[in-house]
Amino acid sequence: MIRQFELVEKVKSYDPGADEKALNRAYVFAMKAHGAQTRASGDPYFSHPLEVAGILTLFKVDCASIITALLHDTIEDTDTTLKEVKKRFGKEVAQLVDGVTKLSRIEFQSDHAQQAENFRKFVLAMSEDIRVLLIKLADRLHNMRTLHYISNPNKRRRIAMETMDIYAPLAERIGMQEMKQELEDLAFGELNPDARKSILKRLDFLRQKGGNLIERIIAELERTFADHGIKATIYGREKTPYSVWDKMQHKDVGFEQLSDIMAFRVIVETREDCYLALGVAHGAYPVVPYRFKDHISTPKPNGYRSIHTGVFGPERHRIELQIRTAEMHEIAEHGVAAHWNYKQGGAATEGPQYRWLRELLDILEHAQEPEEFLEHTKLEMFKDQVFCFTPRGDLITLPRGATPVDFAYAVHSEVGDKCVGTKINGRMMPLRSELRNGDQVEIITSKAQTPSPTWERFVITGKARARIRRFVRIQEQEEYIKLGRAMLDQAFLEEGYNLTNKALKNVLKVFNQAHQDDLCAEVGVGNLNCREVFEAVYPGQRKKKTDDKVVPLRAKGRSVLNDEQGGGKGDGISIRGMIPGMAMHFAECCHPLPGDRIVGIVTTGKGVTIHTIDCDTLGDFADAPEHWLDVSWDIDSNSPNAHVGRIHLTVLNVPGSLGDLSTAIAKSDGNISNLRITSRSKQFFEMLIDIEVRDVKHLTHVIAALRADPAINSVERARG
Ligand code: MN
Repeated sequence: MIRQFELVEKVKSYDPGADEKALNRAYVFAMKAHGAQTRASGDPYFSHPLEVAGILTLFKVDCASIITALLHDTIEDTDTTLKEVKKRFGKEVAQLVDGVTKLSRIEFQSDHAQQAENFRKFVLAMSEDIRVLLIKLADRLHNMRTLHYISNPNKRRRIAMETMDIYAPLAERIGMQEMKQELEDLAFGELNPDARKSILKRLDFLRQKGGNLIERIIAELERTFADHGIKATIYGREKTPYSVWDKMQHKDVGFEQLSDIMAFRVIVETREDCYLALGVAHGAYPVVPYRFKDHISTPKPNGYRSIHTGVFGPERHRIELQIRTAEMHEIAEHGVAAHWNYKQGGAATEGPQYRWLRELLDILEHAQEPEEFLEHTKLEMFKDQVFCFTPRGDLITLPRGATPVDFAYAVHSEVGDKCVGTKINGRMMPLRSELRNGDQVEIITSKAQTPSPTWERFVITGKARARIRRFVRIQEQEEYIKLGRAMLDQAFLEEGYNLTNKALKNVLKVFNQAHQDDLCAEVGVGNLNCREVFEAVYPGQRKKKTDDKVVPLRAKGRSVLNDEQGGGKGDGISIRGMIPGMAMHFAECCHPLPGDRIVGIVTTGKGVTIHTIDCDTLGDFADAPEHWLDVSWDIDSNSPNAHVGRIHLTVLNVPGSLGDLSTAIAKSDGNISNLRITSRSKQFFEMLIDIEVRDVKHLTHVIAALRADPAINSVERARG
């Protein structure tokens, strides 16, 4: 275990301006917070954050990151609160600790391989500050080094898989090659211990057989370069058992000799020296074909730069050479961490190809102070996405601003169509709620549910929108067909005829329609009227000469202008108590009828809206008495059917029931002006029907007549 003063010394060795007092305070604070807690190894728990801080000093990270490493498990595992951390160590450290804590709560539960990439993105999105990811990787590295102490084999395996699938690739992505290899190899030891043992055995065998081969190769290479005036330092580095295994699996190659599992790094002073060294190597030794790669002129996406080549080198051993400068070498090993060390040291770095890394470096280039750079090192790459989980732990990626309905459609179209509610992180939430990173979303479905047109206002994914629109179109079409058919039924009955499908079929051509349903829909929409259709079917047979009224399905409440006398008039409707010159409507929520007790509500822009006294909407105006207007009906008993009453019906889903319905309404002298099916099942239709009536008494008659019909299950006046 590193001691307190050693840690401080290490940080000060590369950052002389480090806040020594804060480091010491963090050390003492974390040690006290973890108290008597122990690790699976039996060590005091505090040894873990301390080791993590120690690992991070190797990457020469800033003081705030070291302090965060010391504190990183205090929120999750002790009584410490984030507030306390903020008070004692400031906002920057608190934010970093919060970020690492959040990452610790993520568990890679899914066993779908294709989910791994999404999880990696998720982790990146959660690490808004790149330092959070560095600290998390160091945390993971120490946990992997001590993994064997955990007694539960399932837990060990899960952690190893998570490391292999999520964290090692992330380390690679930000260019931390050394970290990546160690993580992979530790995970490999857990996931496939037999394979790892056999490779170690093979490596041992090759080492014994080779004697001091590596030293001899290095010595000869150094001499060769020196003879040509190039100062080169050469390392022979053995590949890890996992990378050997990986190569054997993917390239289907065996390992014949020690040089096969060695990479020789040739470290020179300048970029030009790299190419000179390459020329020397190719001049002195035969080249292995197809092994040459120039990652200096074309760096790898994660910023890696080096020249690779293969030669039959000293003693005719086939070897791989990686030629690079010391700076390139540091970046190859430490990735993004190395980049900012170099900036702090004042050396310039060339921007690598990887977009977001280049953005980081751009900020680094232009920032005046290192602190400003760190402030701005937000990972911007996934800012336009949110990552959410199903209850099973599958990850669903959505655009930012997405709602549970988008989520439901992303899971499956059927789930979207049937969704009635949602639980976000276990709590019931409105379907229009905006989802946030890390939300666990449960969709509650019902077989009776169908997509709602109102969803279209808040969904943002194309898939959800397309499904909802398609459904709404089909449903509207069906409603138009039913309405049109009901209107035609009634019109034909009034003329003394029964409407038949055959009759309609005969006149399809006249109206340029393909099917009877299309013809009915045209009537329902209001493009055709019943009179035209009747005259086409039975030319010259028409008795009634009054014009049919065509009421489109989406007819709005009629607005009428008042006369000068302070009474509202229009379609024979009069209201006493109106304000002269003000527009008046009948509310669509309660459909007041003569005979109902009514009240007027004055609103700017809309004039006066007439509601029934028991309408729910009035609650909205309870605190605004200035909007209320005392009004009453002023109607003679012979007024025509000029009022619209709305009823709610449940009708048996049997052939002819809709016909019965429209007949019953017509017999009671009512006129259907609008019909909407609100839900349908195998047994029942539920619908809302607007009926033109004289007054409330008339509507009561219509309702009574409907209740007498055996096909009609229930009828009541619709409210709200
Ligand atoms: Mn930890």
